[in-house]
Amino acid sequence: MDDALEGVLGAKSAALLAEELDLHTVGDLLRHYPRRYADQGQLIPIADLTPGQDVTVVAEVRRCSSRRMQRRAGTIQHAVIWDSTRELDLTFFNQKHLPGVLTPGRKALFAGRVTTYGKGRTLQLTHPRYQLLDGDADQLAEFSRPLIPVYPATKDLPSWTIQLCIRQVVDVLDDLDDPLPQSWRVAHGLLGLDAALRAVHRSDDRTEIAIAQRRLKWDEAMAVQLTLARRRLVAARRPAPACPRRDGGLAAAFDAALPFTLTAGQHEVGKLLAAELAGEHPMNRLLQGEVGSGKTVVALRAMLQVVDAGRQAALLAPTEVLAAQHARSLRALLGAHGRAGELGSAEQATRIVLLTGSLPARARKQALLDVASGAAGIVLGTHALIQDRVSFADLGLVVVDEQHRFGVEQRDALRARAPEGTSPHVLVMTATPIPRTVAMTVYGDLEVSALRELPRGRSSISTTVVPVGEKPGWLDRVWRRITEEVAAGRQAYVVCPRIGGEDALGEDTPRDDATGSASERPPLAVLDLALQLGEGPLAGLRLGVLHGRLSGTDKDAVMRSFTAGDIDVLVTTTVVEVGVDVPNATVMVIMDAQRFGVSQLHQLRGRIGRGSHPGLCLLVTDFPEGNPARERLDAVAATTDGFELAQRDLELRREGDVLGVVQSGRRSGLKLLSLRCDAALISQARETAQRLVQADPELIEHPGLARLAADLLDEQRAQFLHKV
Ligand code: ADP
Ligand code: MG
Repeated sequence: MDDALEGVLGAKSAALLAEELDLHTVGDLLRHYPRRYADQGQLIPIADLTPGQDVTVVAEVRRCSSRRMQRRAGTIQHAVIWDSTRELDLTFFNQKHLPGVLTPGRKALFAGRVTTYGKGRTLQLTHPRYQLLDGDADQLAEFSRPLIPVYPATKDLPSWTIQLCIRQVVDVLDDLDDPLPQSWRVAHGLLGLDAALRAVHRSDDRTEIAIAQRRLKWDEAMAVQLTLARRRLVAARRPAPACPRRDGGLAAAFDAALPFTLTAGQHEVGKLLAAELAGEHPMNRLLQGEVGSGKTVVALRAMLQVVDAGRQAALLAPTEVLAAQHARSLRALLGAHGRAGELGSAEQATRIVLLTGSLPARARKQALLDVASGAAGIVLGTHALIQDRVSFADLGLVVVDEQHRFGVEQRDALRARAPEGTSPHVLVMTATPIPRTVAMTVYGDLEVSALRELPRGRSSISTTVVPVGEKPGWLDRVWRRITEEVAAGRQAYVVCPRIGGEDALGEDTPRDDATGSASERPPLAVLDLALQLGEGPLAGLRLGVLHGRLSGTDKDAVMRSFTAGDIDVLVTTTVVEVGVDVPNATVMVIMDAQRFGVSQLHQLRGRIGRGSHPGLCLLVTDFPEGNPARERLDAVAATTDGFELAQRDLELRREGDVLGVVQSGRRSGLKLLSLRCDAALISQARETAQRLVQADPELIEHPGLARLAADLLDEQRAQFLHKV
């Protein structure tokens, strides 16, 4: 498998494969699987062609000529081919050499889209790709097989060339060693590697191919799960600062002062965290829970246990607005217990320090000192906290809030921040419910818990799609509805995809989730809309504007006046997506809603319905019914169950998007395995890997599996290097 392709295929083909597809060894090429298989039906007689079809035909060249174009620079080539059923015209541009290649009598494959021209609507292929067959009966047979594998290809390296290369490699390939022990293959009903690789490239039978693919998916699933299981094991073996729960400490005082009772879920997760924090090895846990399910309270109780043990806890938020908001709500929740060193503080109080880029230099210096001396028990900030060289006296716990784009590398970096030789406990919280398969792969280095119920007293949110394309008049009703809510003493959000102003696409512009938008018009912008609303439908209401280009201080001031009720309607970008908590806000209007992803819309609407009044979310779009983006909006309107939505979201996306979004760009090494379709296989692999690694961490008994995992890591590292 490690043999260079050059030895098997010759220098020219090897260079092409290396350049075009980054394939260097026999193994690389064999793991370049067909994307799909075309039925022989697609090799069709010319007599049966119809316009618009993508076809491949086998035919003989009748004639080919070249001439200058009449009105433009350049040349045009015209050829006629024949396949014993009919003739077909081909047109090429600027390929003057062609008459010397497509000489009469030569046989070739031609692939392209059937179009028509002229009054007689004559059929033709324009600029088809071709592969000369040179009267080679063997090659002709190759392309006449009942199933033709279709490979990921490039313009200069078409699928059929790859097919020929692979055939050449497979023909001379010795039996391959199988990394999976035979007893195991039998137990799981898996084909051997050698047979699987041959079948996936060369079989003419779809059932056989499916069986082969299943085996190859196992390899991928095992490689990922073994890697993760070892990562978990290594992490779990590292020493961690033990933080046993202490009676009569801050945590106990906080619980006693809590104005509500914890939900059963909060209680249960709380107990689990308390036990893990008390341990000598680091907790590595992911806590999922709907927006408003009370994760922050759970995290705060964990942080206080750590402070009680004489150590520090850090909370990382995705934006400065959120970090500041967390600081405010923690200070409110802790009261006198959070004001150490100030007048009227409680006896065992700690200090809460907010460390953001927008702090004035003096305040920042003081904050850094408090963090370094240990005077600050709780430190809040954005991710810059772990990137910058902030030094902690004794960091025991890091809580990462609401960050579904926080990848494995960042989590590793963060684990390196505890005192000499230890790793802090880590709690990652996400409000985006993560489908099980994604949790098992992308977050597979973490143990997963969930808060499934919302605290009582939460109001319902109803969501409606407002199709202004079909019902332009509805937009006025939207603004009237806001006016009514404000008259009733409540507040509203209006969310736009873009900031506007100097018209650069701002940092808040959704990119990940927006599917290629069908409309040419630029997305609606906060600054433009705020102006229009203020002069038009919402004249007389107090409007505020919030977006990522405001300074930290300004953002903070806007949020504070909205919270205080001094702003009626907040026109904003997605900076309000997470964590913002203003219970009096009851309406959210999302403009150009089709530009946002399912989970983002769900996050956004979690900002309303947080008080005693029901929430109303209006998804405004001019996309027509039947458009896939509209389907996503309908899905969001249909349910408020985040887990159901996450699953639906996964189904509505393409696989690549799933990984793209959650993996922060890192390639997964998954070629056949699908996070959408292979849940059962992934969870079997996870259990198996966990068991194997527990018993044999270095996989000494399973060299083949160790190799599989090592290859995956190599690939990931190579990807990483490419990126740097
Ligand atoms: P999340 O972080 O999961 O979005 P929060 O922890 O911010 O949720 O909680 C949302 C709101 O609900 C906060 O105002 C919080 O004080 C309140 N809350 C949390 N837990 C409970 C509970 N058990 N009962 C009532 N209210 C709660
Ligand atoms: Mg929260």
